[in-house]
Amino acid sequence: MRTAIGVDLGGSHVTAGIIDEDGTIRAQHELDLTDLSFPAVIEALVAVIGKAQGDAGKSAAIGIGSPGNVEPHTGIVRYSPNLGWENAPLGPTLSERLGVPVLIANDARCATLGEYTFGTGAGTQDFVLLTLGTGIGAGIVAGGELLLGNRYGAGEIGHHQIRPTDGFVCGCGKIGCFEAQASGTGLIRHAFLLAPSFPRSKLLDVGRDNLGSKKIRKAAQAGDLHAIAAWKNYASDLALGIANVIAFVNPQRIALGGGVSSAGEFMLDAVRARVEELTTMVPRSTTEIVIATLGNDAGQVGAATMAFRRALTTRL
Ligand SMILES: [Zn+2]
Repeated sequence: MRTAIGVDLGGSHVTAGIIDEDGTIRAQHELDLTDLSFPAVIEALVAVIGKAQGDAGKSAAIGIGSPGNVEPHTGIVRYSPNLGWENAPLGPTLSERLGVPVLIANDARCATLGEYTFGTGAGTQDFVLLTLGTGIGAGIVAGGELLLGNRYGAGEIGHHQIRPTDGFVCGCGKIGCFEAQASGTGLIRHAFLLAPSFPRSKLLDVGRDNLGSKKIRKAAQAGDLHAIAAWKNYASDLALGIANVIAFVNPQRIALGGGVSSAGEFMLDAVRARVEELTTMVPRSTTEIVIATLGNDAGQVGAATMAFRRALTTRL
């Protein structure tokens, strides 16, 4: 069986997986990123891919998922607010350093390709992945095709505005983007926004730096009234965005991944009913909402799948 190297480049670390053609991960190498400058990230990628090549061989195909707007045909990252890059020649520079071709695409599109091929998208023709982490990464498969758009911008669901007048400021500069309201960071922001209504609450005592979305969710499950209120507002915003996605593409299945999705049924129970209420012109209950199964590995698996196919495509 063929083996490829699938790399997930994030804002805090880079992971390279050695992945079989059936989606099995044989090994993984990870490196923390402390310097996000282009030269420093190139050195980190060369180091971690070098380790992966030690397992998979020098001739293994390499695919990389990167944050930002990425042109797969040139390998250029057009802009990436997370990395602070503009027109960064990631693909050409790495291909030259490694001496082998390297394919690059947006990280969320890679994750969608992975989840569609080997996870909860398998067997469907119309599928959406929403990764709820620090931000919201997303990708759309319609009619069996991964949508790329005119300039590789299709699937930026995280940046459609759901609260343009009263929402949180998004990393992209707009107010009330889906990502600002319904990512893991969004849940924390909902908790802070509600703090004046719960003066005796201890929920936020650990300080913003130590407050993860998981802590708020677990407190909500344990009955903390402040956490329950934050969770309800969060789930309401999440359902609003999901209902919009259904109105746009009416997928057969929407998978929720990322850190917040570890809430499992607790999350699905909170959003399904509200999504139904907000679904008007699309026949109700024609989109299943499920938890993604590949977790943090979806990006690597998708990047490797792209490398096998020599293109960012759902077609074999
Ligand atoms: Zn935004």
